[in-house]
Amino acid sequence: MRPDEAARLIDLVHTHGSPCYVHRLDRIRAAAAELRAAVPADAELFYSLKANPHPLVVEQITRLGLRAEASSTGELRTALAAGQRPDQVLYTGPGKTPAEVTEAVASGVELFSVESVTDYQRVADLAEDAGTRVRCLARVNAGQATAGPGLRMSGAPSQFGTDLDRIGELRHPDRDRFAPLIGCHVFSATNIADGDALAREFAVGARAAAQAARSLGIEPSLVDLGGGFGSPFARPGNRSAYPHLRAALTGLLDAEFPTWRTGAVRPAFESGRFLTGESGTLLCTVLDVKQSRDRTYVVLDAGTNVLGGYTGLGRLLPPRAVPTVLSTPDLPGEPRPLDLVGPLCTPADVLARAVTMPVPPPGSVLAIPNVGAYGLTAALTGFLSRPLPAVVVLDGGGETPASARPPGRHYPESPPPVLSPLPARTIG
Ligand SMILES: *Cc1c(COP(=O)(O)O)cnc(C)c1O
Repeated sequence: MRPDEAARLIDLVHTHGSPCYVHRLDRIRAAAAELRAAVPADAELFYSLKANPHPLVVEQITRLGLRAEASSTGELRTALAAGQRPDQVLYTGPGKTPAEVTEAVASGVELFSVESVTDYQRVADLAEDAGTRVRCLARVNAGQATAGPGLRMSGAPSQFGTDLDRIGELRHPDRDRFAPLIGCHVFSATNIADGDALAREFAVGARAAAQAARSLGIEPSLVDLGGGFGSPFARPGNRSAYPHLRAALTGLLDAEFPTWRTGAVRPAFESGRFLTGESGTLLCTVLDVKQSRDRTYVVLDAGTNVLGGYTGLGRLLPPRAVPTVLSTPDLPGEPRPLDLVGPLCTPADVLARAVTMPVPPPGSVLAIPNVGAYGLTAALTGFLSRPLPAVVVLDGGGETPASARPPGRHYPESPPPVLSPLPARTIG
């Protein structure tokens, strides 16, 4: 990292406290352009708010013409406040509550991905109650597996979607009236760095979507093939490059949905991490360095309470953060294996095991790169009731924080959760 860049980040820590997230909107713009180039030219692109629902991030994504994929009232409100048109939003999720669906319909959301007969019936009933019509995508569990390094979300048994061999059960005239099925939705894997593996995943998904449409007896107008676009987490590196993917997708759409070139069937793709992963950096400070037996522990003021990446769930990403030391770029001492741990009172609060670097003394400011997706949203923010970190959003290399909103606002905008004790109550 250039010295002036490091100095600027250290300044942000002085101003906004440590730990502190920094998101750069210019990197999101670059990612969105790359994603567009990787898929057919007139495909719809959805941004999964769960990766990073910061209002300024969602506002930027919206200005780039990407549509929001929301799975809760909170995400929906964020999307609408950021300027998303409700008729552009795709509402997804395996456990939509009646209250959520009611609010979504009342807000003007017109497109729902439905995961089961019950989920579909609920959406249809609530659309009818509201005296309106919505449109639905049948989410399909594709039922086939291709090998890939990412976390598969369907293929084998899955809590997501409806198995391909039962998908026909979704179709019913009552549901059709207020919530017609206009297409299919597949999302089977995430973070697939290899372009060929990703193309194979899309091929399986497209075939499943086409078969599902036949089983349902519908002429789909929208086919959401999901995502899986890769981006590194908490270590240096770049988004995956997919130079051949557009051609592969064009071929498989020709094979499975021959009318797509006329515009009769619109393909859609989704991403969270590819769009925002590289945009985010977590700045934190070394509190202590201690030796225990043969291990050196570096205790940071940021742990799994502010940095998720699903590690807290024991899935997907082993703890292997690789930070840059900003405050002393040329640390004396030989690189040696260090365990980076957070401040939480659990041995599970580990951001890296045996990362090789010179020992950063207490007070050092570290930067953990590529944490713009699933940084805060997948973190155990309630654990130990620490305050949420400030989130600073920058645009370009200039000094001005993006938009008129002050930098360093806490996210979410409501006060941190779980800090108020339950009222005392005597039982018996
Ligand atoms: C989580 C999710 C995504 C985004 O996944 P990324 O790996 O962040 O791209 C897209 N679609 C659905 C349905 C999801 O659940």
